[in-house]
Amino acid sequence: MTPTRPAPHEEAAVPHPDTGGAGRPVVVAVDGPSGSGKSSVCRRVAAALGLAYLDTGAMYRAATWWCLERGVDLADEDAVTAAVRDMPLEVGVDPQAPTFTVDGTDVAAAIRTTAISSVVSRVAMNLEARADLGTRQRAVIGAERGPRGWSGGRGVVVEGRDITTVIAPDADVRILLTASEEARLARRALEVHGSADTASVAATRDQVVRRDAQDSTVVDFLTAADGVVTVDSSDLDLEQTVDAVLAVVREVAAR
Ligand code: C5P
Repeated sequence: MTPTRPAPHEEAAVPHPDTGGAGRPVVVAVDGPSGSGKSSVCRRVAAALGLAYLDTGAMYRAATWWCLERGVDLADEDAVTAAVRDMPLEVGVDPQAPTFTVDGTDVAAAIRTTAISSVVSRVAMNLEARADLGTRQRAVIGAERGPRGWSGGRGVVVEGRDITTVIAPDADVRILLTASEEARLARRALEVHGSADTASVAATRDQVVRRDAQDSTVVDFLTAADGVVTVDSSDLDLEQTVDAVLAVVREVAAR
């Protein structure tokens, strides 16, 4: 087999200029509620630092799409678990063009529909399905980080709800990206309805507030665990939030 990566002893520990000289591929874990701006921010942060990007929420969405596609009753926990375990999911981690393919079908657009958003929590509340997706997420993180002590890997920005606490509690940088409920509702309304007027915000409320309430029954992503840095984006625009996250990465990774 042709080695695709140098062995640890072949690679000098070159400080990574953008991450403050950490000298190794960094893993940046970012959790937060919906509408906190996680996806847009994390993609940009990954691109700026030359890291891979993994959107774990999209994996839950793809799992939900797959269950519905196969006619699985989301109330049947065993059937959901079996379907998720069988899901032939392929994930592309380029932050410029992340891809999600299930059984050869590009599901990137389909998983963003309201039909999926409104029921994804039912799959996310299934602990066996979480365990399966968690194993896949750790595999991606492990592949991007490379072997311990090896400094040639890219590293990865991973976003979700339980990354800082369950999936990668040992990540180099752990961030909780929050925003006030008002700011989160306005952002989602703008994204989904193209406007943040009263009617659009009301229409978005169920999706954001109910989904977060359901999701937080299985993982706590509303308060920062020990060692997790909180970035509050309520009063920041996208660029400012990206800068705030980059500042945390540079500071923490350089320690
Ligand atoms: O981030 P996004 O809104 O796309 O996530 C979709 C859903 O996936 C969340 O509402 C939650 O139910 C689930 N999720 C999760 N754990 C993660 C990421 C997402 O339970 N790490």
